[in-house]
Amino acid sequence: MHSTIVDGPKLRAELIEEFCNLARVDSEPYEEADLAEVIERSLLELGFEVERDNAGERIGGNSGNLIAKLPGNRCSNAKSILLCAHLDRVPPGKGVKPRLDGDRIYSSGDTVLGADDVAGLVAILAGMRMARKAQSTLPPLEVAITVCEEKGLQGSRHLDYSKLQSKMGFVFDAARPVGVVIAGAPTHIKFDVDIIGRAAHAGINPQDGVSAVRTAGAALTRVPFGWVDENTTANIGMIRGGEAMNIVCERVHLVGEVRSHDDAVAERVLGQFKECFAEEAANSGARAEFEASTLYRSYRVDEKSDTVQLLRRALSSIGRSMTLELSNGGTDANQFNAHGIESVGLGIGFEQAHSTRESIAVDELVAAASLACCLILRD
Ligand SMILES: [Zn+2]
Repeated sequence: MHSTIVDGPKLRAELIEEFCNLARVDSEPYEEADLAEVIERSLLELGFEVERDNAGERIGGNSGNLIAKLPGNRCSNAKSILLCAHLDRVPPGKGVKPRLDGDRIYSSGDTVLGADDVAGLVAILAGMRMARKAQSTLPPLEVAITVCEEKGLQGSRHLDYSKLQSKMGFVFDAARPVGVVIAGAPTHIKFDVDIIGRAAHAGINPQDGVSAVRTAGAALTRVPFGWVDENTTANIGMIRGGEAMNIVCERVHLVGEVRSHDDAVAERVLGQFKECFAEEAANSGARAEFEASTLYRSYRVDEKSDTVQLLRRALSSIGRSMTLELSNGGTDANQFNAHGIESVGLGIGFEQAHSTRESIAVDELVAAASLACCLILRD
């Protein structure tokens, strides 16, 4: 443990209080302005220069991303690093009433807790406060506080990267214990399929109809589902269509996804979906319209990279060992890597995120803040 970090009752009480205060501020996706204001004030108090980009206008939300900079000691030749957490939380995320039960914080049971990602916000703010106490001048630092992470990383997708200089990034946002480093995450592609057949009366002249339900059904027996290989998954999660029992169904809409740590495999699997729907449409006389969009690209950060080496030191300073893992979900780290900032996700200890059972141990909150402090100090 760094000599300046004292894990005493005072620090714990401060972290619990800050966590609860931030969790109480409503911040569902597209509605992050209130929490953004609170965080902005804290960053200003800590000596950051803060600006808000126009991501909010671009995605239809009421706040942009916060981009904060600490110029740092000009004499030092340390390079800037980027710390990141997100403002939004999944529903039901309004009116959160956090409660401390033993050494763990829970919601009251009818909302999420929002530790995803309030724990990340607290880690960065408290880590900065601890670093300030340890040293009066700090190495250069950038902080990105993003919006709409839970909506396909839209905030970091529309972030103004011209404002960032860092080449290393740390995203405080993984549902794993402190010490786990998410060194890789997949490419994620969403697709929409419309099957367009022809309506007819189901009892009088069904022979004149072309059933979109039947065409979709035939394709669904052939498309990949679940684990395609150990690095790839595929799913169709939504299907919608039809007007009435007695009409040969004219239209069906399906929504699916492909994830893979290998971009080429992701494209190949996507191609299979497209082909199956096209072939079955051709067989039945229907039409298939297929549209895909890449939500984010995969990344893999090497064990020997500067980013992982700095983490290894920081984690050993707080007495935790490092474990590198791959995740099958995206975080803002995917977008940062795509923009030339070598970034990893960090376990910050929240559990059962995206459910009303979500919780976080106070020990993990302390560890996450201490980790942020050591990264800021480059210990
Ligand atoms: Zn998150």
